[in-house]
Amino acid sequence: MNPSGTGGTVLRSGRAHRRTATTRAVYGPDVQADRSAANGYGSQVNGSDPAVAPGGSGREVTGAISEDAWLRALTLLRAAGEQSGGIVLACHLNPDGDALGSMLATGLGLRQLGIPVQASFSNPFRLPQALTQLAGRELLVPPEEVVAQPDVLMTFDTGSVDRLGDLAPLVAAAGDVIVVDHHVTNGGFGTHNLIDPQAAATAVVVDELLSRLGVELDAAIAECLYVGLSTDTASFRGAATSPSTHELAARLLATGIRPDEISRRLYDARPVRSLHLLADVLGRVVLEPGIAGGAGLSWSYVTQDDLSKHGLGMEWVEGVVDMIRGAEESTVAMVAKQTGPGEWSISLRSRGSVDVGALSVRLGGGGHRLAAGFTGRGPLENVVDALRAALDAVPVTS
Ligand code: 5GP
Ligand code: MN
Repeated sequence: MNPSGTGGTVLRSGRAHRRTATTRAVYGPDVQADRSAANGYGSQVNGSDPAVAPGGSGREVTGAISEDAWLRALTLLRAAGEQSGGIVLACHLNPDGDALGSMLATGLGLRQLGIPVQASFSNPFRLPQALTQLAGRELLVPPEEVVAQPDVLMTFDTGSVDRLGDLAPLVAAAGDVIVVDHHVTNGGFGTHNLIDPQAAATAVVVDELLSRLGVELDAAIAECLYVGLSTDTASFRGAATSPSTHELAARLLATGIRPDEISRRLYDARPVRSLHLLADVLGRVVLEPGIAGGAGLSWSYVTQDDLSKHGLGMEWVEGVVDMIRGAEESTVAMVAKQTGPGEWSISLRSRGSVDVGALSVRLGGGGHRLAAGFTGRGPLENVVDALRAALDAVPVTS
């Protein structure tokens, strides 16, 4: 099923989407003026060396990605643009705001440059309600329709190949793979790796990429990037939120996008029965204060039966782990989400002193220091036991 409800872009369709005066017209005169000062891409990049970062932009250039890596990736993308083969974009399965927003922002940017794209993600090919109206969704095609051997594959917010799900075989099949990510646990599985672990979101890396490509920052691209930035910083509350995070948000808002409308769709639009599901899950939170040398663990779980009982999908409990993280008696929060018989998607959060990213890597997953996850198999009690043992073995920093 196509979540956008429209036909997706078919590769080799030629350059039907060249930049037009219409795409530029989303800027009002005031925004145009503001843009040239505050950097809305395009202007200062056109005609310049694509590898040279635009100066004075407030853009988050942390140096984690070398100039050589940028240059090689840009050269590849420009060469792909010269041919008509197009580029396949993929993000991690069960995409969140940063995965989808980063991918679609790039898709819109490449389309603006006249480069055909297909954007996709693994089955289940369904978007959570919060993301169904995201700009650029018309670029999405079901995984079955993605070309099997693309010249260039770009992956977004995907820390490891397995996170691509059904699309994982594309990594070996593609001529080149550009990995765009901010996961510290990403080992760099691409031929080109644009990975900045200090970036607050993958959207930050995409912002830099689009700027270097000379893409015009329009409202649709800004909406996609804002969704990535907002969701991955937990509404600008996360530790990675920096002055440049807010500077990027300011540039995005200057295109005229509405933070209130975007936030309502992302965070404040749910059916009443999802509150009942939430009550079930929060009602069974367990506090284990002795875990991890006294750091403590608070955890709960959601089964397929819970979802059936309320007639809901797993999307409605994605935020629960962040609520449990609020429990001040424990440093680590966990929610075990049953994804199939004996299969659990484990979400972990830390309040600071425990590195749940490193812990998740040891348990076969990945993520960030304060937000990470892994897949657990077998009865829930065994999965939780393995987690308890791993937590008791981790060094706790102050
Ligand atoms: P969430 O708990 O919101 O699903 O995920 C938190 C973070 O952990 C995200 O950065 C996500 O990419 C990562 N993560 C969650 N589950 C897995 C997993 O099974 N494998 C890997 N590699 N990363 C995961
Ligand atoms: Mn993600």
